Amino acid sequence: MKLKNPELLQQANYWDGLWRQSATGEFIEVANPSTRMVIGKVPRVSRAEVASAITAAEQAFISWRQQTAQKRGQILRGWSELLLQHQEDLAEIMTSEQGKPLAEAKGEVRYAASYLQWFSEEAVRNYGDIIPAQKPGQKILVQKQPIGVCACITPWNFPIAMLARKVAAALAAGCTVVAKPAELTPFSALALALLGERAGVPAGVFNVITGDSAAIGDEFTENPIVRKISFTGSTRVGKLLQQKSATNLTKLSLELGGNAPLIIFDDADLDLAVKGAIAAKFRNAGQTCVCVNRLLVQRTVYEQVMQKLDGAVAELKVGDGHQEGVKIGPLINQSAVEKFIRHFDDAMEKGAKLICGDGKSDNLFIKPVLLADAKPNMLFCREETFAPLLAAIPFDTEEEAIQLANDTPYGLAAYFYSNNVQRIMRVSDAIESGMIGVNETAISNAAAPFGGVKWSGYGREGSRYGMDEYLTIKYVLMG
Ligand code: ADP
Repeated sequence: MKLKNPELLQQANYWDGLWRQSATGEFIEVANPSTRMVIGKVPRVSRAEVASAITAAEQAFISWRQQTAQKRGQILRGWSELLLQHQEDLAEIMTSEQGKPLAEAKGEVRYAASYLQWFSEEAVRNYGDIIPAQKPGQKILVQKQPIGVCACITPWNFPIAMLARKVAAALAAGCTVVAKPAELTPFSALALALLGERAGVPAGVFNVITGDSAAIGDEFTENPIVRKISFTGSTRVGKLLQQKSATNLTKLSLELGGNAPLIIFDDADLDLAVKGAIAAKFRNAGQTCVCVNRLLVQRTVYEQVMQKLDGAVAELKVGDGHQEGVKIGPLINQSAVEKFIRHFDDAMEKGAKLICGDGKSDNLFIKPVLLADAKPNMLFCREETFAPLLAAIPFDTEEEAIQLANDTPYGLAAYFYSNNVQRIMRVSDAIESGMIGVNETAISNAAAPFGGVKWSGYGREGSRYGMDEYLTIKYVLMG
């Protein structure tokens, strides 16, 4: 890794303001998915160490919550600026541990910085209410207070942004955080912690630990000091955390899997729709929870759309994310490749037509696949594919498209293309999903509430709603 600031690559944990190795002496090795070479290692903490980090966060909460919102905002703003200053190095670290193309990694660093910036501004707008009381001389005061120590668990697909958008909201609200990044991509989170330290985040306010996910998850759910868990990851683990959180009634936000439909109606701008579909399907090699997983195309424009897609998919260059012009990096690991092959084989067996790609893997690299004539009974319609496989299903009517779009237990993102304003209103109302992009697929930004319904979870991140997740309402009756 060629870094201008090599100290950004921290192979230690950070809690209570100190960089530490684990008392266990054990490590987790981290490999580059493009080369499969080990790029470094991080400590595997014991459960007792997780508890110590939580206690440090509890101690730090006493003064952090009393800090003025302006001061908290100032620190978050400085942190955001440091991310922007170091975006080249942070992108280098991310591409090395996660595989995504450098340009996407840089985009993610800017996106992460935008959450720190947004919540630096939101910190000072944590308003309450004064409500007219029901007896003379009384007043009802409503105040929003930080919930306490928060645990954040993040996935490997957006190693810096998923953590930044949690920690920015939590710290703005006055909470303190213990974070556990994915074991496959811990270095981006540790670099975030280093820049936080430099920005003046006080000791114990933001802590990052690495280790065995089940043991850390158990401590997070069983330790009564933790009042909130914000999780981004699979629906399977989300459900597990919900069960385990019953012990302490720990508040949860769960941002889980998706199975996004993208509908192209025959009144759409087809070039725009194809561009949107390509961007939303192939970003991060198809490994995002808001990726297009099911493409629904009205039969009257089906042939035209498939032709346009064929050209666009064939152009996407596959390779090591460090190389110029690469649009599709490797998948994260072998089990991701196996899932892709399962979905591909199942679709072919059930009659899909191969237009682009070959359904084979070269190490963790996969040529993007375009399939035509897919059907709703195929596996990719039931499960998130998380790979560069785009499969199109033709449909005839708007009702049929809505029925197909909603025929999934998930409900995170959905997209559709149409230029008929009445249809836009009808379809936006009818689709069961937390987020909808109309004639647009780049829907995630700091100003908007990100989150899902059904098996995609609950709670929102970003926007003013995102801070509510870290606040409790206290009402005071003034007699
Ligand atoms: P994915 O399939 O995308 O890797 P996971 O839900 O397995 O999604 O992982 C998301 C995050 O959840 C990662 O940080 C992972 O280490 C963590 N995780 C996995 N299992 C558990 C668990 N039992 N308790 C807490 N966190 C977990």
